[in-house]
Parts: sequence; C-alpha cells; structure tokens
Amino acid sequence: MDLFEYQARDLFAKHGVPVLAGEVIDTPEAAREVTERLGGRAVVKAQVKVGGRGKAGGVKLAKDPADAVEKAGQILGMDIKGHTVHKVMLAQTAEIKEEYYVSFLLDRTNRTFLAMASVEGGMDIEEVAATKPEALAKVPVDANEGVTPEKAREIVEAAKFPAEVADQIAEILQTLWKAFIAEDALLVEVNPLAKTGDDGKVLALDGKVSLDANADFRQPDHAVLEDKAAADPLEAAAKAKGLNYVKLDGEVGIIGNGAGLVMSTLDVVAYAGEAHNDVKPANFLDIGGGASAEVMANGLEIILGDPAVKSVFVNVFGGITACDAVANGIVHALELLKSKGEEVDKPLVVRLDGNNAELGRKILSDANHPLVQQVDTMDGAADRAAELAAK
Ligand code: GDP
Ligand code: MN
Repeated sequence: MDLFEYQARDLFAKHGVPVLAGEVIDTPEAAREVTERLGGRAVVKAQVKVGGRGKAGGVKLAKDPADAVEKAGQILGMDIKGHTVHKVMLAQTAEIKEEYYVSFLLDRTNRTFLAMASVEGGMDIEEVAATKPEALAKVPVDANEGVTPEKAREIVEAAKFPAEVADQIAEILQTLWKAFIAEDALLVEVNPLAKTGDDGKVLALDGKVSLDANADFRQPDHAVLEDKAAADPLEAAAKAKGLNYVKLDGEVGIIGNGAGLVMSTLDVVAYAGEAHNDVKPANFLDIGGGASAEVMANGLEIILGDPAVKSVFVNVFGGITACDAVANGIVHALELLKSKGEEVDKPLVVRLDGNNAELGRKILSDANHPLVQQVDTMDGAADRAAELAAK
C-alpha cells in the first residue's frame, strides 16, 4: 500500500525523522487558518500517489494566507497524470540550499535491502539514475545488521555528501531505517532531503512510503491509512467477506479454487477470448479449498454484482474438497441468492474435474438450473464462457 505524502510525513515525524509542520485540507478556504498557524507562509502540495507533482504544477509557494487559499483552489481538482487532486498538504516553507536523495527498499533480486543515496536530489531521481548512474550510490543493507552507525557512514561516503551535512545525514539514515523496519515498509524515500536555511539543517521535505500489506496482521495502525475513496467498491465488498478477489477489466467472471488454477484460468480465458470479440477475464477470485455453499454464494454475488460481467466461468479441480461438495455449493448458492431476491441472470459455465467429478457433474445435471451449463474440459469451458460473454 502506497501512502500519501502527508501520511509519510506523519510516519517520519512519529519515528523522529526531521520534517516540517504540515496539515492536510480538502477545501481552499481551509488554507487560510492553516497558513496562519504555520507562520503566515506555506508550500501548497497536491496529495496524489504519483511522482512529479512539482513539474506538473502541483507544488506552489504561498506568500500569505490569502495567497494560500488561491493556490489551494488552483491545485484542488487538478488532474496530475490521471489522478484527481482531492487533498492538499500545507507545509511550513523552507529555504532550500541543496537537494539530496535517500531511500531504503527491499531488493528482491539480490535478496537483501538496499540503500540508495545521491547529492543530486530534487525533481527527477529516475533521470539521474538513467543518465548519471555514478551519481546514485547503491549500498546493500543486511537484514540482520540493519543500518548501524558504520553502515550509515558507508552510505554517506558512497554518495559523497558534503562534510558539513555528513553527521546529520548519517543520523537521519539510522532513524529512517528504524522507521522502515518498525512499519514493515517495502520502500521509504526522501526526495528532496534538503539542506536548509542559514544553519544548514537537513530536513525531509517530501516522502514516499510503501507498506507491506503482508504485515497488516501485526500493524493494526495501518488500516486507517487505506484510501477508502479510491478502493474499488467490489474489491472492498469482497475484502469484507474475506474473499481473495481482484477486479480486472474484462467481461468473463472467474471463480476457481486455488490461486494457481485461477491464474491459469485467466490465461485460457484471455486466449479463448481472442476468437470471441476479444473478451477478457473480469476478475480474479480464488475461493480456496473448502468451497462451502456460503463461500460460493458470496463469490457469485460479488461477480454477478459487477455490471461488466456477461458470463461466469466456475473452474474447480476437486481435491480435499471434492467436486460433489462444490456442486452442492453451486446449487445451494443459486438458491441462496434467489432467496435473497438477487435473481441470477447471467450464464454460468461450470467445469468440474478431479476428486468425485462424475458425482459433481450429476448433481448439477439433476439440479437442471436453466443458466448453468457444464463443459468437461478447461479449454472447452473457457471457450464457451468467452462465446457467451461476446453475445
Ligand atoms: P514532487 O515533485 O512530487 O517530488 O514534489 P516535492 O515535494 O519533492 O516538491 C518538488 C520541489 O518543490 C522540491 O524539489 C523543491 O525544490 C520544491 N519545494 C518543496 N517544498 C519546498 C519548500 O518548502 N520551499 C521551497 N523553496 N521549495 C520547496
Ligand atoms: Mn519529491
């Protein structure tokens, strides 16, 4: 989960990374009072989860409270690379002398953590990395040792930070690392890390943080950081029901048991769709091992609630939960939905294979539901579901 800049700022502050005061607002008028509180001047910054806000006009300096209201009005509602600005952060201004870059991230390729640092921070670190790779120091960080004072010194030297800021940056690197570990982050990035004012104090003026959702179970504080407004309503409903669901752009609803089977089902449906008006999978949904009628009904309810879905492909390989149990689950799920007044009006193509497949198929045949068709092979069923979706 990526955080907004203001959330990253709060998180840095919590762990002692030096930041300036800032407050987030969603109406221009609110900028007046906040700017007064911040000392009469403010940087007005668009809160969108995309880089390059500065260049896109999403970061503006306001010289007084009235000016802040005007700048906030200009930035709120702005479109930055397809992201609408709903909130702006007002932050205390700083007199920037130099702009640096530092980050920690998980380096999957090398199975370690990585520190990156550069004296050429500011707007475009990607460009520095591409055109002047020698200006971006990369230092591996051992997961067990972490950023010790020695490691911090090594990073400072590799990036060739000026002597007068070396101590401050070494300190910040250790604090930032503690934040990275304590919050189970996958990325913490500061750009610019700025040398400011006459005293040369180094401050984190912009932060980017990505949190590891796999650690949510031990990070109860992270739930409130989720951007509820941006979440897909179907994905939110599926999450509330404990389903493993991801919304995609196509027309064929997919239900399967086991992540691997569902992944390959997406592939065969996408392939079959090429011959049928280019229809594509509408979602990923893994109902897992014990496919009870309730779980099946929940899954069908989510998928049928997606207006883009034109047909549904239920692809099940019976294992510990045998096909007869799944077939009964489908039959009962359809009854359950009907009793809730949710009439199923989209065709379902079911393919059952594996443990007790014969029995499962018989249960579905006997139930004789008008919208359920059975096809015995995965490719054949994918083709039929795609054909029905293309109609
Ligand atoms: P980004 O473009 O999305 O990375 O947004 P940043 O928050 O990094 O802001 C872009 C640039 O705006 C920075 O590199 C700074 O040059 C400038 N900037 C940000 N905050 C301040 C500030 O408080 N004072 C001044 N003078 N410039 C700032
Ligand atoms: Mn930045």
